Amino acid sequence: MMIDNNFEENSALEMDTSDGLLKYREMFHIPKIANGEYSIYLVGNSLGLQPINTIQYIQQEIKTWKILGVNGHHEGERPWGSYESTINNKMASLAGSKVDEVVTMNSLTVNLHLLMVSFYRPTQERYKIMMEAKAFPSDQYAVASQLKFHGYQPEEGIVEIEPREGETTIRTEDILKTIEKEGKSIALILIGGINYYSGQLFDMKEITRAGHVQGCVVGFDLAHAIGNVPLKLHDWDVDFAAWCNYKYINAGPGSVASVFVHNRQGRNEDLPRFAGWWGHNKETRFEMPSKFDPIPGAEGWQISNLNILSAAPLLPSLDLFQEVGMDALREKSVKLTGYLEYLLNQLNSEAFTIITPSDPEQRGCQLSIRFTSGGKTIHERLTGKNVMCDYREPGVIRVAPAPFYNSFDDVYRFVEILKEIV
Ligand SMILES: *Cc1c(COP(=O)(O)O)cnc(C)c1O
Repeated sequence: MMIDNNFEENSALEMDTSDGLLKYREMFHIPKIANGEYSIYLVGNSLGLQPINTIQYIQQEIKTWKILGVNGHHEGERPWGSYESTINNKMASLAGSKVDEVVTMNSLTVNLHLLMVSFYRPTQERYKIMMEAKAFPSDQYAVASQLKFHGYQPEEGIVEIEPREGETTIRTEDILKTIEKEGKSIALILIGGINYYSGQLFDMKEITRAGHVQGCVVGFDLAHAIGNVPLKLHDWDVDFAAWCNYKYINAGPGSVASVFVHNRQGRNEDLPRFAGWWGHNKETRFEMPSKFDPIPGAEGWQISNLNILSAAPLLPSLDLFQEVGMDALREKSVKLTGYLEYLLNQLNSEAFTIITPSDPEQRGCQLSIRFTSGGKTIHERLTGKNVMCDYREPGVIRVAPAPFYNSFDDVYRFVEILKEIV
């Protein structure tokens, strides 16, 4: 990837002026702090900001419910009965999937469990689950509890790949070597496409290929990847994936989540699954037959009818993604995060190191900054100066300039404030 690294000659304000996406900043509500000043919001990796159109979409459904009652399921501007199809269309382009390979339902960890019901099928010889070290705790708990559910000890069943001694990121070659060496005992490879802590982006295509050679099922948790980096889940031949929509997708706190199931798997009716009426063939769903006939594709994993008030914010947000396109967002993102890295390196400070890979191909927009000491206090002082970012033990402040609404000036001001503090 070619990146323009002539940051010295460009001031932040000049880069903002020539940024074709700057106008999108106006399409989001940027939180203000006590004195009415805008915050420097660098925590879209935890909760994305609210698009200004979101309220209209929620109000629309409140109104439809008020005026039409139950008829809102098949009447009104966006009938609830087919609401998920509208979302799937837009979501598929972010996932790099066929339309029938994605569905929006439940929440992320719940979906990981439901997908493991189908895709973690341990046998005596092949029962292990491979993960990256320091996976998001919820994923670790989910995996450990699935192992226990099947009668295995998590300590024996989890294969964790770590960075080498003295390194902060995991080498792809080490992942591939472990798959090759231990693959025959691994039932499932489940990795965070971008690790939430280090910000490392994994080579999902290669991992999937290597896993399949060994006969493993390969899934990804894309909570930190969706809407952050371009994805090609179908072409990479990934078996399944899951993500939440409140981080880079900006659909609001706890908003409904999504999953991907590759058509190779989605059309396989022999896979075990926990079924519910919403996954049943739409033609006969309301004839209320007693035998379950799954919808082919990801929609067949639905259990309940969609939470419309939670799903409504997805539409305006996904429309913004359609309008701009992941390629343009990624292009700005690489530059914006590159600028952040450049300014941090200019500080030449002994107080911290960046633990996120410096290769843009191995990261999204987030940089994780590890402080030698006093990370928590530094975070508190940043907060006192209107910077919104987050702190994760041990010693790491995660900073994520989101290309939709962060400016080069945000990044510049953040580093100036950090410079004062350290
Ligand atoms: C944010 C995040 C979660 C959160 O799980 P919920 O079920 O939405 O509460 C889980 N896993 C990863 C990797 C995450 O980044």
